[in-house]
Amino acid sequence: MTDVHKVLIIGSGPAGYTAAIYSARADLAPTLIAGREPGGQLMLTSDVENWPGEPDGVLGPDLMEKLKKQALRFGTEFLQDMVTEVDFSSQPFTVKTADKEFKSETVIISTGAVAIWLGIPGEERLQGKGVSACATCDGFFFRDKKVVVIGGGDSAMEEATFLTKFASEVIILVRRDELRASKIMQKRAMDNEKITILWNTNALEILGEEKVEGVRVKNNKTGEEQTLEVDGYFAAIGHKPNTEIFKGQLELDDKGYIKHAPDSTKTNIEGVFASGDVMDPLYRQAVTAAGTGCMAALEAERYLASKE
Ligand code: NDP
Repeated sequence: MTDVHKVLIIGSGPAGYTAAIYSARADLAPTLIAGREPGGQLMLTSDVENWPGEPDGVLGPDLMEKLKKQALRFGTEFLQDMVTEVDFSSQPFTVKTADKEFKSETVIISTGAVAIWLGIPGEERLQGKGVSACATCDGFFFRDKKVVVIGGGDSAMEEATFLTKFASEVIILVRRDELRASKIMQKRAMDNEKITILWNTNALEILGEEKVEGVRVKNNKTGEEQTLEVDGYFAAIGHKPNTEIFKGQLELDDKGYIKHAPDSTKTNIEGVFASGDVMDPLYRQAVTAAGTGCMAALEAERYLASKE
């Protein structure tokens, strides 16, 4: 008979590691299945200057290494593997990797989300060198610079408006001749004199060797191409939560985020909790992910206590 774990955590971003730190310190001996490339989205960033307690900033990968070390220090069992299948239909829950099967009384899901990219040349190569999908994280580095923002939804309007705090000019590239964003967010962006919108415009390529130096764009109505000389490129066309393996097992919203009870990490299955970007389409910050990771661990602990 396989051992039944008390707490099994899937994912190794700030949410997963924080859930591990809290549940390990509550003597619940958590097992954390980290994915193939542990550390989550912060592994793709350079300087993180908004993590409290790091007044001089910290490199994303260094921060994740510290969180991992802290989780291991209290006895988290760490496994660098991908979960391929889950079964939440009966207790204890089943979680499978390619060659292992785990049973657990509670599961904390912290599998995160990924930014959706256009997939154009230069986007991957210049990530962290002027290419970003998070204005809150990286806007500060564009003081008095020119940037483009891609997208016409609320994220694009919010990111563009936020970027005007720093940038001298923000150009929003919208692929249609109208915005998807809510009226109030549209108005806020359009009333901002630092923001220009280029309609019916697609980005074709990001230029620059060591850093972003420009973006080649095309008007999809006239076919006219031009190069915008900018220092930054922000993709704001949406995020995709990593919930493929939970389809049919948990209630997801129409965008695929895990549904949870208000002010709680409880999912529709008792004993299964969700924390971090996989359940949060709004804030998407390392510190809020860590916060919900802590909540999930406390709620799992209370759930286990209530069963005894
Ligand atoms: P959305 O899906 O709402 O919008 C995505 C935008 O990106 C659309 O304008 C879409 O264009 C455009 N887009 C998609 N693919 C491409 C592409 N390949 N090339 C060019 N443009 C593309 O995503 P958001 O992240 O903006 O918002 C997600 C959810 O979060 C929404 O419900 C939103 O209301 C909410 N939100 C709320 C905020 C707030 O209230 N403060 C802030 C941010 C988000 P098209 O319209 O042509 O499809």
